[in-house]
Amino acid sequence: MDLYEYQARDVFESHGVPVLRGITVTTAEEAGKAAETLGTPVVVVKAQVKTGGRGKAGGVKIAKSPAEAAEKAGEILGMDIKGHTVNKVMIAEGADIAEEYYFSILLDRANRSYLAMASKEGGVEIEQLAVERPEALARIEIDPVKGLDEAKAREIAEAAGFDAADIDQLVTVFTKLYDVYTGEDATLVEVNPLVKTGEGKIIALDGKVTLDDNAEFRHPEHAELDDKSATDPLEIKAQEKGLNYVKLDGSVGIIGNGAGLVMSTLDVVAYAGEEFPGQPKPANFLDIGGGANAEVMAGGLEVILGDEQVKSVFVNVFGGITACDEVANGIVQAFKILSADGVDPKPLVVRLDGNNAELGRQILDDAQLPKLERVDTMDGAAKRAAELASATTAPADADRN
Ligand code: GDP
Ligand code: MN
Repeated sequence: MDLYEYQARDVFESHGVPVLRGITVTTAEEAGKAAETLGTPVVVVKAQVKTGGRGKAGGVKIAKSPAEAAEKAGEILGMDIKGHTVNKVMIAEGADIAEEYYFSILLDRANRSYLAMASKEGGVEIEQLAVERPEALARIEIDPVKGLDEAKAREIAEAAGFDAADIDQLVTVFTKLYDVYTGEDATLVEVNPLVKTGEGKIIALDGKVTLDDNAEFRHPEHAELDDKSATDPLEIKAQEKGLNYVKLDGSVGIIGNGAGLVMSTLDVVAYAGEEFPGQPKPANFLDIGGGANAEVMAGGLEVILGDEQVKSVFVNVFGGITACDEVANGIVQAFKILSADGVDPKPLVVRLDGNNAELGRQILDDAQLPKLERVDTMDGAAKRAAELASATTAPADADRN
């Protein structure tokens, strides 16, 4: 999970990293009040979106009075930055910036270690610096067992060529940022810019933090950082049902058992779709896992049928530990649950193979479910699902994908 800048700011503060005060608001009026509360001659109005380059996009603006803060917030709220709508702005104390530096710690999977990067030339897009002037960006490996201690922090600061007078302060900031990294189970902690003020103080002015979702169980307190408004509502629903679901852009809903099978189903459907008008594509990834009972199947179907873009559904199951007859019973029961809930069925193509396939097919045939078709090969079923999605798509929006 990526954090918003204001959340990163709070986390930094709780670990003793020097930051400036900031108040997050959702209206221009509140922005004015926040500027008044801060009471500094200059405040900065900053768009809160989970993407970089806000400054360039006009999402970071300086204001010299509460009235101006309100005005700037009014301009920034509702703005679209790289596909992210700005719903929140942070009103932050203005910093008197003398210099802008860069510092980050990230997980280096390839080397099974952590990597610290530091540069005296921060503020700018670091990817660009790394390409154009790689010598200006110091990269120091951190042994996860030894960690980033004072000596390591000093090594990083010196490698980046920081002024001797600033090194003690930087060492403290780097080690505190490492506390954030390990203490919060992050996979990325990035500060850009890390500034030196006119008075020579080092402050983290903009922070980006990515938390490791696999460590969620160790951090019940992180749950409140999860901003549901930024997540697709169908994904939230699927999450609540414990399903592995990812929303995609197409019109063919996909359900399968096992991540590998679902991945290849996406490919086969995308390929099959190419020969039909509108070229239907997969609408989602949904893996119902190995032990798919009726309830799980119903939950999966409910999520997929709730997607307005879905025109047909392809259920692709290879019976293993959970045999095809159980899956078929699951589908039949799912139809009962869904029709009781008033959910309209959409054309459904089912392919059952593997353990007890014959029995499963028989169960489906006997149930005579509305709009359900059985196709026994994966390619054939993918083709039929794509065809059905194509046929139910009005020509007007056929080329929307
Ligand atoms: P980003 O563009 O999304 O990375 O947003 P940042 O928070 O990094 O802000 C972009 C730039 O705005 C910074 O590099 C600074 O140059 C400038 N900026 C941000 N906050 C302040 C501030 O308090 N005072 C001044 N003078 N400039 C600021
Ligand atoms: Mn930045």
